[in-house]
Amino acid sequence: MKPAAFDYLKPKTLDEALSLLDEYGYDAKVLSGGQSLIPMMNMRLARPPYLVDISGLKEMSYIEIDEEEVKIGGITRHYMVEHSEEIKKACPMLAEGIKLIGHSQIRSRGTIGGSIVHADPTAELPVMLTALDGKVTVVSSEGEREMTPEELFLTYMTTTMEPNEILTSVHFPVIPPRTGHAIEEFTLRSGDFALILAAATVTLDEEGKIEQATLCVGGVDGVPVKLEDVTDELIGQYPSEELIAESCAQIADLVDPEKDIHASAEYRKDLCVALSRRVLSKAAERAKQG
Ligand SMILES: Cc1cc2nc3c(=O)[nH]c(=O)nc-3n(C[C@H](O)[C@H](O)[C@H](O)COP(=O)(O)OP(=O)(O)OC[C@H]3O[C@@H](n4cnc5c(N)ncnc54)[C@H](O)[C@@H]3O)c2cc1C
Repeated sequence: MKPAAFDYLKPKTLDEALSLLDEYGYDAKVLSGGQSLIPMMNMRLARPPYLVDISGLKEMSYIEIDEEEVKIGGITRHYMVEHSEEIKKACPMLAEGIKLIGHSQIRSRGTIGGSIVHADPTAELPVMLTALDGKVTVVSSEGEREMTPEELFLTYMTTTMEPNEILTSVHFPVIPPRTGHAIEEFTLRSGDFALILAAATVTLDEEGKIEQATLCVGGVDGVPVKLEDVTDELIGQYPSEELIAESCAQIADLVDPEKDIHASAEYRKDLCVALSRRVLSKAAERAKQG
């Protein structure tokens, strides 16, 4: 199918892009990698009269890492993160999770900012941003603001960003010592969006007890869901398969996924329990290794 007619605008600077968004408001859509927006336009699920293509704003394509933070520009393409040796060391979950996005063709065009603003609750980047307590920076002609995932994601494919705002950068914490990361998902076919995905971090103290843990699942609600009741039970304990299995058993009562043509709600719950156990166990093992 072909999209409805639209005007294509290609600003040369961020300021120019922001003033176009001010001018056209809800009639304009930001175009970045186009891997979600263009299919939606082709299927006539989106009919923006104006496209503001930000893919030429090269100052928004970068990866910067210091001692505390991995900072990634909004139009940085997935493949750049996937192939960064520095990211593998500084934020292993990001390196592992980015490879699960679609296919290499998608990752060569898709952008970090686009995946986050698209806000699909079964997409890897929103789940990783939430699991890792990352944040985003968005700008408009009125100024700049930082948002946590909880402030950003509203519901299915909807954020709290205003139509005149552009996501300019995404920030993830550098992995602390004695910490392990893990992310896993279940897809019906390789490269599909996940039915359910889970991401976890585990930090051990010097005695080897769990000092901090996070668990975030996607595919059970309109936004990624952090399961703090599960991880709270792990704090202060030595990690073991039994401990993690016992704590994850309550997940079936904590999540309420919907059914659709791909899977029943019960099946999704089972996946959620199984994947949560796996990622917490894997993260704990990795934390033991250093
Ligand atoms: C076959 C196929 C399989 C896929 N599988 C997966 C998968 O497994 N996991 C997954 O996560 N994704 C998957 N995707 C989607 C892909 O990852 C998209 O690239 C991503 O969702 C959007 O990034 P983009 O840069 O292409 O954004 P675009 O498509 O250009 O834009 C997406 C949305 O974000 C807005 N937007 C983009 N950038 C900005 C910005 N900087 N500031 C403000 N608004 C912005 C746009 O206006 C639009 O609403 C798949 C896509 C296809 C076609």
